[in-house]
Amino acid sequence: MLLSWQPITLDLVRPFNIAHGVSLTRHNVFVRIESGLGEAAAVSYHHETQAGIIEYLRSVELSAIDDPFELEDILAGLPKGSAAARAAIDMALHDLWGQRLGQPLYRLLGLNPARSPETSYTIAIDTPEAMAQVAASCDQPILKIKLGSEDDEARVRSVRQATKATIRVDANGAWSRERAQGLLPVLHEFGVELVEQPLPVADLDGLRELMRLKSRPRIFADESIRTASDILAHVGLVDGIVVKLAKCGGIREAVRQITLARALDMEVMIGCMIETSAAVTAAAHLAPLAQYADLDGPLLIQNDPVRGVQYQGARLILPSGPGLGLTRRELP
Ligand code: MG
Repeated sequence: MLLSWQPITLDLVRPFNIAHGVSLTRHNVFVRIESGLGEAAAVSYHHETQAGIIEYLRSVELSAIDDPFELEDILAGLPKGSAAARAAIDMALHDLWGQRLGQPLYRLLGLNPARSPETSYTIAIDTPEAMAQVAASCDQPILKIKLGSEDDEARVRSVRQATKATIRVDANGAWSRERAQGLLPVLHEFGVELVEQPLPVADLDGLRELMRLKSRPRIFADESIRTASDILAHVGLVDGIVVKLAKCGGIREAVRQITLARALDMEVMIGCMIETSAAVTAAAHLAPLAQYADLDGPLLIQNDPVRGVQYQGARLILPSGPGLGLTRRELP
């Protein structure tokens, strides 16, 4: 099978400011295996770069393999390294698999797309007034507010006053234990449904203390969860986990992690990075397995070259074409 790749630059609709830093553009990589398409997100706080992803892809040899149905063997044989690049290879193989069988991926996985949860829409860190302005004008029923700097309480208050939408917050690991303990009851009072990654990765004792708070939103781990053993380490310390293809290494591993988490009575949010419709559609095929979805990547970028999952407000509409169901988008 022929493996090829193409670096892409994504222009964002508005500056994306989160606790990990601010960006105006992102630099991802499209990966093709025959007619299958995947995407690798170069996320700096995952220690991934466009150059590193391409270097990894150069080390992958698929020319001796001619059967895309041997997914398990092909993926197990990949070199260690870039989870984002492995995820892109896995997506392209699943796309090719579905194309050869003439069926959309969700059907091959036995999933009912009508069960997909509605997606949240992300509002990056800005002044409380500016965040409230986006909240009031975006007409989205579920908002995910990025926090993790001064004035977090004012930001949530301001957004709360501007909208009746469900509010989730994501601190991206920026709070200390003390700050999180002070903020969570306040967020609960504002009706915040859940908080993602309140504490830095690996502060398990801190999570244990937060879970004991009498009034708090649900607590989800995102950056802390990359592997199945991370999920085991968080049993009883969070209400749920965020599964993302770019973190775990692809669709196949994501299904395993979702199955493990649900067996352990943990809730699951299927999430994405700033990615085009290629990677986000791949994740959307798994959305019926999750209770929460945060799949708004294509809504945050201006120059998505791919058409895949569509949005009816917050509803995810999966394409019905074979494989991932992706087509080319005509850019203006
Ligand atoms: Mg997050």
